[in-house]
Amino acid sequence: MENPINNIVIVGGGTAGWMVASRLAAQYLSHTQSKITITLVESASVKPVGVGEGTWPTMRTTLKKIGISEAEFIRECDATFKQGSKFNGWVTGNKSDYYYHPFVLPQDFSNTNLMHHWQEIGQASSFSNAVCVQEQLCAHGLAPKQINTPEYASVANYGYHLNAGKFAALLQKHCLAKFSVKHIIDDVIKVNSAKNGDIASISTQKHGEIKGDLFIDCTGFACLLLGKHLKVPFIDKSDTLFIDTALTVQVPYENDHSPISCVTQSTATSAGWIWDIGLTHRRGIGHVFSSRHTSETDAEAKLKDYIGQHIKSGEIKKIKFKPGHRSHCWEKNCIAVGLSAGFLEPLEASSLVQIEFAADWLCDQLPATRTTMDIIAKRFNQAFTYRWSRLIDFLKLHYVLSKRTDSDSDFWIENRHSNSIPESLKELLSLWQHHYPWHHDFEHSNEIFSSASYQYILAGMGFRTNANYLSSDAENALAMKHFTQNQTTTNKYLLHLPKHRELLNQIIQYGFQPK
Ligand SMILES: Cc1cc2nc3c(=O)[nH]c(=O)nc-3n(C[C@H](O)[C@H](O)[C@H](O)COP(=O)(O)OP(=O)(O)OC[C@H]3O[C@@H](n4cnc5c(N)ncnc54)[C@H](O)[C@@H]3O)c2cc1C
Repeated sequence: MENPINNIVIVGGGTAGWMVASRLAAQYLSHTQSKITITLVESASVKPVGVGEGTWPTMRTTLKKIGISEAEFIRECDATFKQGSKFNGWVTGNKSDYYYHPFVLPQDFSNTNLMHHWQEIGQASSFSNAVCVQEQLCAHGLAPKQINTPEYASVANYGYHLNAGKFAALLQKHCLAKFSVKHIIDDVIKVNSAKNGDIASISTQKHGEIKGDLFIDCTGFACLLLGKHLKVPFIDKSDTLFIDTALTVQVPYENDHSPISCVTQSTATSAGWIWDIGLTHRRGIGHVFSSRHTSETDAEAKLKDYIGQHIKSGEIKKIKFKPGHRSHCWEKNCIAVGLSAGFLEPLEASSLVQIEFAADWLCDQLPATRTTMDIIAKRFNQAFTYRWSRLIDFLKLHYVLSKRTDSDSDFWIENRHSNSIPESLKELLSLWQHHYPWHHDFEHSNEIFSSASYQYILAGMGFRTNANYLSSDAENALAMKHFTQNQTTTNKYLLHLPKHRELLNQIIQYGFQPK
């Protein structure tokens, strides 16, 4: 083969670097005949961002493909089960204002649009309660599976909450123990070009020049290869998504028996929101806010007020970021994955899932030669451009539908200004005035957020559709059957599923038990 792609160099050892290395290694390095080599270079002095504690259910497939046991993952990463997000105070800010975005799809989602029927029959219970089991499981602090459910299988769909630093360390250990990934701890000080503009090599401080055929830029916000060297522009989205600062802190549980939440608690504040994530040994809490709409002092006071126990200011870590993404993630022979490709904000944990998608794509379509690389790059870039725009719409939806009018900040009011809302989201909202979100609204496979997610947010935030379609008696009867069936399944699960902490303690002590 002419110009084969054999030597892959990954720069960066945060979650992105090690996730991509693990997926590629599991796929390409397990064959003794493989000509592929993978080298990961990471700096000892530039620490990974170390946050990113919520995942999507896709992480189960990713971990399985990498070949890590679920029990080991839970033990080593202090991981817990995440069944979705609970949004507190996002609509009015009142005490009774909350809704769930669960991971379980609405009952019979492939055939029946229950949003229509739920709205028509009057809403005795919330949409998520009427159409799926998960709100009740979370409200009762129950796990989404039992000790004898096989690893990575579920009773109710789930992702994870995890300790990001420990996760990267586990992936590193796995890559080095199971596969021959070459690990170099050093600083990249220069990027060297080939005649055709490709990256030929990187120069490091102590290990000299490292050559490669394909370079994966996982250098976080620095974006050393794709941004600084190849000059791929950054598309700033701060006019649409205003959050740009995080104050994060780790908080111990009151005692060893304190319940562990099964959802990411997302509580709105006057200029942002607070996440609260339960791991096995501590909670991870962070206030993300718009620095244009509040001061750091005020944001810190709100965080402390939320926690309700004494926190020293020195324990709080501040992270600044600019919401946006690179105009494209693949240029020449370099792909940016993770924060180097872009970051919008932590809402709905949409970042690790982008890394999973990029790693999946690379595993499926790793170019065999330089000649085919440009075709693959073009398709990869098209897919990611689409994904960024879908993500921005979905995140912005949470702000656009709010009715909050806080007296100490214009954050929520400005979020509803027409000029801050993407045209594509305005179009969807117009469409849904007279039509319930459904499969045809999104044509792509691999959507991060399907119409089910939009249904949960729209219904949860009080958006109502005025449809001209009237359902038949037979359709109404079928819908009633689904509502009843959902209630029956919920009652059954409430009886049989263990408490979240109880199951985690058992897994940590004994591992999963076969039936
Ligand atoms: C406040 C906040 C909350 C978040 N919450 C979530 C969440 O709940 N869910 C979710 O999915 N995502 C979340 N994310 C995103 C998530 O943290 C990232 O997607 C993930 O950690 C991947 O980061 P990374 O590996 O791309 O970058 P980093 O962790 O920053 O790693 C960069 C790596 O590059 C290396 N490097 C840099 N410069 C050099 C150099 N010159 N030479 C050699 N190496 C170098 C560093 O040493 C480091 O190893 C959050 C992000 C933030 C900021």
